[in-house]
Amino acid sequence: MEHIIQSIVENQKVFFASGKTKSISFRIEQLQLLKKAFLKHQKNLEAALKLDLNKGETEAYSTEIGVTIAEIEHNLKHIKEWAAPKHITTPLFFMPGKSELYYEPYGVSLVIAPWNYPVKNLFGPVLGAITAGNTCVLKPSEVSENTSIAIKNMVDEFFDPNFMAVVEGGVQETSQLLSHRFDYIFFTGGTEIGKIIYAQAAKHLTPITLELGGKSPTIIDKDIDLTVTARRLCWGKFLNAGQTCVAPDYFLVHNDIKDQLIEKIKSVLIEFYGKDPSQSADYGRIISNKHFHRIKKLIDGEVVFGGETNEEQRYIAPTLINNVSADAKVMQEEIFGPLMPFIGYDSIEEAITFINNRENPLALYLFSRNRSVQKKIINEISSGGICINETIMHMASSYMPFGGVGNSGFGSYNGWFGFETFSHKKPVMKRSFWFDVKQKYVPYTKAKTAFIKFALKRLM
Ligand code: NAD
Repeated sequence: MEHIIQSIVENQKVFFASGKTKSISFRIEQLQLLKKAFLKHQKNLEAALKLDLNKGETEAYSTEIGVTIAEIEHNLKHIKEWAAPKHITTPLFFMPGKSELYYEPYGVSLVIAPWNYPVKNLFGPVLGAITAGNTCVLKPSEVSENTSIAIKNMVDEFFDPNFMAVVEGGVQETSQLLSHRFDYIFFTGGTEIGKIIYAQAAKHLTPITLELGGKSPTIIDKDIDLTVTARRLCWGKFLNAGQTCVAPDYFLVHNDIKDQLIEKIKSVLIEFYGKDPSQSADYGRIISNKHFHRIKKLIDGEVVFGGETNEEQRYIAPTLINNVSADAKVMQEEIFGPLMPFIGYDSIEEAITFINNRENPLALYLFSRNRSVQKKIINEISSGGICINETIMHMASSYMPFGGVGNSGFGSYNGWFGFETFSHKKPVMKRSFWFDVKQKYVPYTKAKTAFIKFALKRLM
């Protein structure tokens, strides 16, 4: 594998150096090709997602394939406008002159993806990379192995490996990849692995984006629509059986409505998945035995709904756990599974302190009609993003940056933000030969210094 990786990286370097990817029409062709590839391989990808995660057709389309095709179209629509140099104000002191910002591709990029949304979390960043004119090496997760094979087949059929190539494998292959000098690395995965990747990137001073995980809290105030809240919480939590980086992880609920909300959630779960969710075509499975056992161990305390498991099927029922304490097992790590722990609170300050005593979350959810509570949460908690009276939707908008802060990572993507992430923003200032300000040249005099002071105060 080592020599294959080496030749892919070296060939992509040569291809990038040829300047081909700098042409906007080349990039448009590649984006169109990617759309064509997705349309041709849609069924294969769906079948692989079913095998890996028991993802139903609708969920596979809405959260992986369809959403990627929609983003390809979005990028195709905007690429010319995004890639054009942007005019920037030139201060009077620099006149006559002109300032512009050029968006320059970094070169050869590496995108490393996790298994939970193995299509979307790979091609989302890849779209940013190729729209910005980089070549790209794709490293899908070995854990979602069927999807990894389906992706490799699709990319091999449609793309010149000198421009875009898939390297399959796990830790060993990723480490081999990281021993090479890339021009940009985009990693999505767990925080601990993120630190390893960051250290590897530092060896070559390679710029990097880290899209990490963590526990994303949800605050549920008392002034809400109970039914809509319960539906939106269940949708966000149990999508992909809870294996979503921005899934609401734990639930801080105002004590005045906690019991009512839990009862409502129980009825919504029956409405969504029937009395036995294991029979529902729309309910996912846990990716691996390792994760099945990890999540199962977190089911502890006051289980008020669900709790059933089936190892053979890697099935864990939607499970509600009431009155969870801060030191409960389920509160010590990102759940990444279908468990809903509830913690009561009496004042919003209590909920804010609880969250602020922990690492910065990737997503924060608030359900409340109260504008002053909304404002307080936005102002007082730092998180990757916030979604009010909804779950997950904020990360799906092509117009919003998606990314973390602190322990949940740094950098972002989606639409323009992916393009920007994979572009070096190169400022270019052009001056003319006339009107040469002599005061900036040595030897300095008192008059020259006075002029410089005036210019810095008035002409900048
Ligand atoms: P992971 O960190 O175990 O693996 C991610 C990738 O890193 C895989 O491609 C894997 O092959 C590679 N990898 C694993 N160990 C490695 C090592 N020691 N050296 C080099 N490469 C290594 O993550 P995962 O289990 O696939 O995904 C789950 C995590 O990802 C969760 O924490 C979740 O919150 C997070 N996540 C974040 C986002 C986001 O957008 N922020 C999206 C999805 C998942």
